[in-house]
Amino acid sequence: MIRLKDLSLPLGYDETTLRKAAARQLNIRQTDIRTISLYKRSVDARKKDRIHFLATADIVLHTGETAAVKGCRSAEIIKEYRYSLPVCKKLPQRPVIIGSGSCGLFAALILAQAGQEPVIIERGRDVDRRTADVDAFRRTGLLDTASNIQFGEGGAGTFSDGKLNTGTKDSRIRKVLSEFAAHGAPQEILYLAKPHIGTDRLRTTVRNIRRTIESLGGTYYFETKLVGLKTADGRVTGVILEHNGTQTAIDTGHVVLAIGHSARDTFEMLHRKGIMMEQKPFAMGVRIEHLQENINRSQYGTFCHHPQLGAADYKLAVHLSSGRGVYTFCMCPGGTVVAAASEENRLVTNGMSEFARDGRNANAALLVGVNTADFGSEDIFAGIALQRRLEEQAFKTGGGRYRAPVQRVGDFLNRQPSAALGEVLPSYTAGYTLTALDKCLPSWITDSLREGIQRMDQRLHGFAHPDAVLTAVESRSSSPVRIVRDETMQSVSLKGFYPAGEGAGYAGGITSAAVDGIKTAEMILS
Ligand SMILES: Cc1cc2nc3c(=O)[nH]c(=O)nc-3n(C[C@H](O)[C@H](O)[C@H](O)COP(=O)(O)OP(=O)(O)OC[C@H]3O[C@@H](n4cnc5c(N)ncnc54)[C@H](O)[C@@H]3O)c2cc1C
Repeated sequence: MIRLKDLSLPLGYDETTLRKAAARQLNIRQTDIRTISLYKRSVDARKKDRIHFLATADIVLHTGETAAVKGCRSAEIIKEYRYSLPVCKKLPQRPVIIGSGSCGLFAALILAQAGQEPVIIERGRDVDRRTADVDAFRRTGLLDTASNIQFGEGGAGTFSDGKLNTGTKDSRIRKVLSEFAAHGAPQEILYLAKPHIGTDRLRTTVRNIRRTIESLGGTYYFETKLVGLKTADGRVTGVILEHNGTQTAIDTGHVVLAIGHSARDTFEMLHRKGIMMEQKPFAMGVRIEHLQENINRSQYGTFCHHPQLGAADYKLAVHLSSGRGVYTFCMCPGGTVVAAASEENRLVTNGMSEFARDGRNANAALLVGVNTADFGSEDIFAGIALQRRLEEQAFKTGGGRYRAPVQRVGDFLNRQPSAALGEVLPSYTAGYTLTALDKCLPSWITDSLREGIQRMDQRLHGFAHPDAVLTAVESRSSSPVRIVRDETMQSVSLKGFYPAGEGAGYAGGITSAAVDGIKTAEMILS
């Protein structure tokens, strides 16, 4: 098969245009092409008057592939990627996976595909009941601490934009995308440079992967929490679980700990058990919302209504004179700001979108880098304490019942409280209070955000639009602790115990957590 890079495709291209462009670049006839499919496609919007797609295509010719590649520097012969499952004898006891987020899900899938019949323990509810709980929270402001945006089947990514792009490079990413696509995600994720599933499609996908795992002998226990470990001679020998107030144990020699970054009680329990952890830098800030129409215009100019382009995204980062970094993260085109709390009286925001990304607003996290020196203490959990402080202040400033503090960007930059909104209405569905964000965020965050917003406006016209709105607080973008593991991915304190994914501090985002889950499963199988 030939992989052909740097194909330039016009907006509105179709299969014929694609074949024509490939044939021209390879210097062959269109009829020489047996099959052609996109491997990657991105939007090139650097020149606003010539927006087009840049693509890589996989091509099978009737004959003469070697000759065709010889004369073309952007083409190479490749072997189609196939994930190969490590071969391993049946383990003496079933491996146990704690957490069904993307890390746990993919660790479980690989172990199930390898015939190991994993047991999956999830403190939250299955995706259908969880969806009802999340909806109820939005409507009533009554939080279920066991089933919410952070906890439950599919983990933190279930109610998200389902962005699958990652800064990491690993051939297993293809395995992740293929499994998502085979289980109900849109097929375009296989070739888009910035693939996304959308929360509506993700829920089905997560449920379908669970069914595959169960069909291969895996077992799920929902509303069941890891509360303790059984150990002997420096090895894990079992897990202690709690369901409906009753404790039980499962004996096992292999535990994948994929608990995400919000399981603060579990971090504390593990620390008490002597599992080595360390402080980790992270980031905090707010969500920023603009009209999606304005983002589209800034990014795509006169092409902003082209149906093949969809809702535009952005990614911005600036380095301030203070030495701090300010950056946008987890941008959700056409999405909403969601109430993402998991603890009583502590407010957390995040963002999500449906696959169609057709909401009125665009939102993104606008974050300030937090160093361990900002924690103000050497305590392992000082980062969590800082998160909790800001989440409590945001809750109070919002006026309770998870109403979020909101401020117009114009007022924020002028250091005056907001009394009215302009053209951008906050999408945060649990209600909001117009205020001054300086009331709930420390000055090293607000001052950095002020400078950051103005600097970012020079890169993305309209970013500092006075009517854009800020919603506080975005405190859970990544884990403030790391559970230290060795080169075999096991905890340095306990053999057979594999801290993985976002919560362990070794991955960030749906795809990279999934890849970490796959690697962990491979390590167990090896
Ligand atoms: C609203 C929102 C939107 C996001 N959008 C995106 C996005 O578009 N793209 C992207 O790449 N990333 C996104 N993220 C981040 C992404 O969801 C995480 O990086 C990813 O889910 C991490 O996967 P994980 O499996 O390591 O942890 P998680 O997904 O957090 O899963 C951990 C699971 O463990 C369970 N658990 C915790 N403690 C215990 C215990 N003691 N016993 C049993 N179970 C336990 C939890 O209930 C949870 O289900 C978003 C996050 C949120 C909250």
